[in-house]
Amino acid sequence: MQREKFFPDEIATVAFGRELALVLKQAPNSGAIIYLTGELGAGKTTLCRGLLRGFNYEGAVKSPTYTLVEPYELPAVNVYHFDLYRLSVPEEFEYLGIDDYFAIENICLIEWASRGGIFVPKADLEIELTAVADGRQSFCVSGSEKGRDILKRLFD
Ligand code: ADP
Ligand code: MG
Repeated sequence: MQREKFFPDEIATVAFGRELALVLKQAPNSGAIIYLTGELGAGKTTLCRGLLRGFNYEGAVKSPTYTLVEPYELPAVNVYHFDLYRLSVPEEFEYLGIDDYFAIENICLIEWASRGGIFVPKADLEIELTAVADGRQSFCVSGSEKGRDILKRLFD
């Protein structure tokens, strides 16, 4: 299943992240593997911030470019924000010992997932962002039944 939405400004991207959080909250377990794709500056981390705001996290959301992952262990759910841009080989990712992060009840938001190769679990949902003038076009594709369910609730 595929759906698109245009975000005219950063506020709209954050709002979409919040909506996504609301949908995940309603699911039997909130967990999901979500890939965020698109060029540098496309708004991937901004969308992640929106999702965290939806889970009442009001602190800073930094890009984990050097640390590879930023954990947010929140009252409602664990959110792990990955940015694999700096990985030189997928094996580097395996050395992190990150398997526990991918437990079914956790939300994993992954930027540059392809750089982790086979060590990154398949996505329930992929959200691609593309800069269009001052806004961002999003293109959402489900990769599982769970992802499909998320998209239905978000869009239909
Ligand atoms: P990425 O994680 O994809 O590299 P960021 O979210 O860190 O991107 O940065 C996106 C940048 O683009 C921010 O500086 C933000 O202010 C700007 N921006 C402009 N318009 C938008 C929009 N519609 N959605 C998200 N970010 C936007
Ligand atoms: Mg980023």
